[in-house]
Amino acid sequence: MRSITILGSTGSIGTQALQVVDMHPGEFRVAALCARHNAQALFDQVRHYRPDMAALTGREHVDVPDDLRNCQWHFGHDALEKLARSAPADDVLVAVSGMVGLRALLAARESGRRVLLANKEALVAGGALVMSRCQVGGEHASLLPVDSEHSAVFQCLNAAEGNPFARIILTASGGPFRTWDSARIKQATPAQALKHPNWSMGAKITVDSASMFNKALEVIEARWLFDAKPEQIEVLIHPQSIVHSLVEFADGAVLAQLGLPDMRIPILYAMSYPARIYSGLPSLNLAQLGQLTFKSPDDGRFPALSLAYQAIRAGGAAAAVLNAANEQAVAAFLAERIPFGGIYQVVSDTMQRLGAPDADTLEAVEHADAAARRTADELISRMNA
Ligand code: NDP
Ligand code: MG
Repeated sequence: MRSITILGSTGSIGTQALQVVDMHPGEFRVAALCARHNAQALFDQVRHYRPDMAALTGREHVDVPDDLRNCQWHFGHDALEKLARSAPADDVLVAVSGMVGLRALLAARESGRRVLLANKEALVAGGALVMSRCQVGGEHASLLPVDSEHSAVFQCLNAAEGNPFARIILTASGGPFRTWDSARIKQATPAQALKHPNWSMGAKITVDSASMFNKALEVIEARWLFDAKPEQIEVLIHPQSIVHSLVEFADGAVLAQLGLPDMRIPILYAMSYPARIYSGLPSLNLAQLGQLTFKSPDDGRFPALSLAYQAIRAGGAAAAVLNAANEQAVAAFLAERIPFGGIYQVVSDTMQRLGAPDADTLEAVEHADAAARRTADELISRMNA
């Protein structure tokens, strides 16, 4: 039996990971659970899964119900790192949203835990730091991707018997604005951006999927996980979200991983790796689907992707700057402070101003992240005036 800490247990990925635990009570034990504000949902989870530790990072104190007092409780912003480091777990699923997961990810590795990574922002911001402490896959795997595209690439590479890849092709659904024209996209509302055609996810990643910043973050994520050069990573629009990504080899052979768009499949694969165990989900029926379609991304309508390549080529903390500016811009868009088109503008202008700061230490990355947030906030205020 493997024990698991779930950081972000009340979110979309966190609750689906707990559904995987429910399917396999003999395989997984929950060691610790962590959320930010949602005390009631966390209480219900602690009552059900009986972890050793639990935490709410967005509260300094909460009255814990009497029947949950034998769980060790932590509050405040550093509880995330505390649980990652000290809960009695084999694996830590990092499923918080935003770069706030970086310290916890590093703490989990420092204390010898295997990291199951959904939190792409942490890897985008601190790629070099994370990868110097992790091994992706293999007999001594210490980092396993949960993001569906990267899980797909990882699975294709596992079948490659050590042969290097020539090209990684990340698929993208295209989001809710796939067929919209530029002018309409720029004026889209939060309600429209939050309506994803294929996946039900947290608000931040859903907006990122609409702007294609999600794919931009995933290009950078792939660069780190698979040590890929920017010219080896391509994006392909595939509205049905059945082919989760593809890998091409020197001989022209292309391997792909397919499945229904259900995050429990990549979550389960990371949790049970290297074994494959029963998911209880319906089988993929390609005959019923009839056709799968593919298209090149349209950089004119979705300019975010080009910023990912720019950030990779610039190196240093350029990707941390991109990520931080995007986090600020998405929050401002959701609060109706800037239009949808303002997100790209804020990120692009912040990157322009800050360039590629130093990223050699955690402190340097956090410094670049904070500077980018300040610059983005300033640009947002001006846009708002
Ligand atoms: P959600 O917004 O649904 O959930 C986020 C979770 O993290 C919640 O439990 C939230 O707690 C918790 N959280 C947020 N900030 C903190 C913090 N500072 N301290 C402790 N807990 C915190 O997000 P998703 O589940 O959709 O996404 C999580 C991550 O996984 C993101 O990085 C996303 O990009 C990635 N991902 C998600 C996919 C999906 O299908 N959802 C697919 C691929 C990747 P509370 O409820 O209290 O706010
Ligand atoms: Mg993804």
